[in-house]
Amino acid sequence: MPLTVRPRRKRSTRIIVTLLSGLLPIVLGSAILYMQAERTLQQSAAETAAQALRQFELMLDNTAEAARVLLPLAGKNCEEVKLALREQVTRRPFVRSTNLVWDDNLYCSSLFGEFREAVSAGNYHLGKLWLMDGNPVTPDTALLVYRLSNGRGGALTTLDGYHLGNMLRLIGRQTLLMLQVGENWLSADGKVHRGPLPALPVAQSVLESARYGFDVSAGYPKGETWRYMAAEYPPLFSLLIFFGAVSGAIGHFLQQRSTSPSHEMLRALEAGEFIPYFQPVVHGDSKQWSGAEVLMRWNHPKEGLVRPDLFIPFAEHSGLIVPMTRALMQQTAVILGPQSPNFTKPFHIGINITASHCRDLELVEDCRIFLQAFAPGSVDLVLELTERELIEPSAIAVQLFEQLHALGVKIAIDDFGTGHSSLGYLRTFNVDYLKIDQSFVAMIGVDALSRHILDSIIELSAKLDLGIVAEGVETQAQSDYLTAHRVNFLQGYLFGKPMPAADFIRALSDH
Ligand code: C2E
Ligand code: CA
Ligand code: CA
Repeated sequence: MPLTVRPRRKRSTRIIVTLLSGLLPIVLGSAILYMQAERTLQQSAAETAAQALRQFELMLDNTAEAARVLLPLAGKNCEEVKLALREQVTRRPFVRSTNLVWDDNLYCSSLFGEFREAVSAGNYHLGKLWLMDGNPVTPDTALLVYRLSNGRGGALTTLDGYHLGNMLRLIGRQTLLMLQVGENWLSADGKVHRGPLPALPVAQSVLESARYGFDVSAGYPKGETWRYMAAEYPPLFSLLIFFGAVSGAIGHFLQQRSTSPSHEMLRALEAGEFIPYFQPVVHGDSKQWSGAEVLMRWNHPKEGLVRPDLFIPFAEHSGLIVPMTRALMQQTAVILGPQSPNFTKPFHIGINITASHCRDLELVEDCRIFLQAFAPGSVDLVLELTERELIEPSAIAVQLFEQLHALGVKIAIDDFGTGHSSLGYLRTFNVDYLKIDQSFVAMIGVDALSRHILDSIIELSAKLDLGIVAEGVETQAQSDYLTAHRVNFLQGYLFGKPMPAADFIRALSDH
């Protein structure tokens, strides 16, 4: 099939297209995997932050409960209440020390008993929590102090930073996790830092405790998304590479084939591969050559000579039939023009046209140029329009046929008897000839009904004063029958097959 031939594309273009089609699924797939990895990390950071928040709140609940129990004792003599302070330290998990405050003075501590130290409420975030980097007892260990106050009295309970750091390490094993209280924050190594929390480059999630006002921040270091993908997705990457290879191979394979029929035909048109063949038409009585029908052939570089029914439908569909016919008429004019002084006049030249030619008036100009190539009055240009595909009698079509007639161009209805043209139609377009379809000619002497139709067509054309051409005459019997019925012109293998220009001109001079 001529329409599956490799188009002439540059080698470099082919390589680029193959590479692109191979890379496309890999790049697209990687982008999707990247987004998926980001989502997974986002979810994981959010879950880690939520879990840490819950744990810290549970721990602080212990200090808060101890402070609540001790607050009514504030202002009482330290000697009387210090055992109660120690009891809370012993009974409650995570509570490291308990203290009582009166008039902003810490005056009693679970560790030392009587004590004296000023308390500044300003150190406490929201008046409640203070993250310290140490105290005189353990200067290098972080400490979280919980404060509860009522009037002049208050209770301070502390939570050891060792537990907090431990929690950050355990919960955030895969993530970076930090605890922020006011202006201070604690890292997983148990160290307290001042200032705002550092921004985490990947999937940062920050949660705030509604009950205690601290923040927890979880996230990942730079490049974590790629590291995650490299660790988790190797099977998917292998699959992507496989798809890339398949897609590249398909891209390569498709380029070996033609892109589209119309693309391939456009190439052929530019390369001048559509050429005319000529089939003689003879007079019904004398059998003298009265003209020729021009039949298109595709002289394909690989497939050889291609029959028109294999490519004309594509040409019509794509609209390329119009420039193809124009090229055919130009070639015909170049070939037959110089012979025209020797023609038996008038010499009929049949050109096949289609409905796409009737959408504008360009055909008039093509015919004018065509006729200029011949000696004046030496040819009758006959446009053959198949009955299978009739033209709408639109304003532009009617105008076209009027102008064609004014130019002396004749109109023939091709394949007559196979379609449904009416008498009105024949008159609208001022038809000059009917070409009887070869199926009726083939039935001469075989099928009575077909012969009946044939006789009716001949009779009709005589009544309408139309010239009549019988196509596909292959036998002497057919020829005799048609001549006896006064058919004006005959065309068929009996008189000559469609032939190349050189053969036709040689045969023409013999006749
Ligand atoms: P068509 O216009 O009816 O052309 C007559 C077809 O009958 C030609 O086939 C011709 O070779 C064939 N033929 C002629 N005498 C005999 C015979 O005695 N016996 C048999 N069996 N066949 C005979 P071809 O050249 O293959 O063309 C087929 C069709 O392709 C044409 O039918 C026409 O519809 C279309 N075609 C050909 N050239 C052109 C063109 O330049 N433009 C357009 N639009 N259509 C074309
Ligand atoms: Ca024809
Ligand atoms: Ca025909």
